Amino acid sequence: MNNKKCLKAQILSALLLTLALLITACGGKKPAENETLPPAESSTASVTAAPETTPAESTPAPVRLSFSEKDIHTGDLILVNSSYPFDFEANEATLDIKNIRENQSFYYQVDKLEFSVAGRILPHLDAMIAACDEAIGTKETGITSAYRTKEYQQGVMEEITAAYGEDYAKKYVAAPGYSEHHTGLAVDVGIFYPDGSQGSFSESQNAVWMRNNCQHFGFVRRYAEDKTAITGISNEAWHFRYVGMPHAFYMTAHNLCLEEYIDFLRAGTSEDEPLTVTCDDGTYDIFFTAEMEIEEPEGMYTVSGNNVDGLIVTVKRK
Ligand SMILES: [Zn+2]
Repeated sequence: MNNKKCLKAQILSALLLTLALLITACGGKKPAENETLPPAESSTASVTAAPETTPAESTPAPVRLSFSEKDIHTGDLILVNSSYPFDFEANEATLDIKNIRENQSFYYQVDKLEFSVAGRILPHLDAMIAACDEAIGTKETGITSAYRTKEYQQGVMEEITAAYGEDYAKKYVAAPGYSEHHTGLAVDVGIFYPDGSQGSFSESQNAVWMRNNCQHFGFVRRYAEDKTAITGISNEAWHFRYVGMPHAFYMTAHNLCLEEYIDFLRAGTSEDEPLTVTCDDGTYDIFFTAEMEIEEPEGMYTVSGNNVDGLIVTVKRK
């Protein structure tokens, strides 16, 4: 009897010890807030395996980013031309138009006091104009056109048609709704003399400097002579468009207009095989996706629509 009692006591104490171990294993480490508790069976299993290194605890679920149709039509890389109009409704909330004269970081001339651009490009525009003036040794670089509403573009079209005729207007002026100036990301640059008169930007040294250096500030010369068949707009030495630095670098280095660059990204890049671009402020991985849900990239990233059929993701390497 005594032996049997002793055996029972031993079994009981072994059971109690197992139970104590189980309680310690499950309660010793509190799960993180976003972590779900494993089911009861795997808790038992974690008694033998070290609970701290179970896969469920070391690999947090990746964050998914969701986009909508509206996102295809907003962002720094939207293509706006005679085939792809600017989506005023989609951009209403994010346009963030700022008056140049009231917000410029130093004084340079604007043709009209109401001229504005998207607020996020203003520091880049300021820096480009300052660097151009410094390189040329004058203070003559200014702005002859900037953000335009649909009504304003209609007025420009009528004005140019009346002055130069319909054929000329069609070559240089986009139809209302189809102008890059609606985006707030485009400016026309001019020469302003101290007496208030204006010179020809196309024939100035400033035009040469800006064509060769705009990419360092995230801008591209949008309408080049050799791209008129693609852009549908005649050679414009004065029109610059903000797209962001890595994109401006690649487009300039490979002589691609925005139409070509958008096509190139769609055909030649994916999340697994991005385009890698090194520019002044670092190295970026860039890819196109038609998916409206993507895994959140690690580190700093931006997502822009292309205004055609998908999104362009730009990730800065650490
Ligand atoms: Zn323009």
